[in-house]
Amino acid sequence: MDADLYQLASTWIKESKYTVAFTGAGISVESNIPPFRGENGLWKKYNPIFLDTQYFVTYPEESWSLIKEIFYDFFGQAKPNKAHYALAEMEKLGYLNSTITQNIDNLHQLAGSKNVLEFHGNSRTLSCIDCNEKVISDRFIERLPPRCPKCDGLLKPDFVFFGEPIPPKIYEASIREASLSDIFILIGTTGEIMPASTIPFIAAQNGAKFIEINIEKSKYSNTIVDIFLKGKASDVLEYLLKLLIQ
Ligand SMILES: [Zn+2]
Repeated sequence: MDADLYQLASTWIKESKYTVAFTGAGISVESNIPPFRGENGLWKKYNPIFLDTQYFVTYPEESWSLIKEIFYDFFGQAKPNKAHYALAEMEKLGYLNSTITQNIDNLHQLAGSKNVLEFHGNSRTLSCIDCNEKVISDRFIERLPPRCPKCDGLLKPDFVFFGEPIPPKIYEASIREASLSDIFILIGTTGEIMPASTIPFIAAQNGAKFIEINIEKSKYSNTIVDIFLKGKASDVLEYLLKLLIQ
């Protein structure tokens, strides 16, 4: 561990006017949520076609049975880890303005973060594909496939499926946050998922300095990153937080 790099990173964060964190699957691995891609990824075990909008509409029961198994029964048991708590604490102390996450596991909010932009949506709510009625997922997924209480249409989780655009409001808000930031912290993201992977470059274009926290280098490391802190998100963020509150 390079103590000087940590010291520099904490000084930057302390002096920053607007710090934004950008998180990916890597931050939730320590909460036992496997990434989607890669060797131990979910897509080795499941065929991702059930998250294709066309397949979902054609085979709602098959799709929903897997959606419930993975995103509600399994993800639903996950708890935030020290990395999520450290970010929530940084926000509370005024060192972090917002967190843009590519994850749909709700763990930032469970840890206490307030200003969270869920780039890929969330699983807490479902929307009717016919009339757009929005409901809280809980009791609606007891019987599959869930049906709209208003028009009996099919309910779909409010996270982004394959081939679906990013909700415009969240996309615009993420671009705004990136443009405002003078310090941008990349955590557990490899930068492979479009269009999320373009958000950090918007911050770069506006002159933000970059701190990256990852176990391995990403496609950002040698392009826009100024300080690379190698390690597990929980270890690195806990140590950074310690320096910040010193
Ligand atoms: Zn409806």
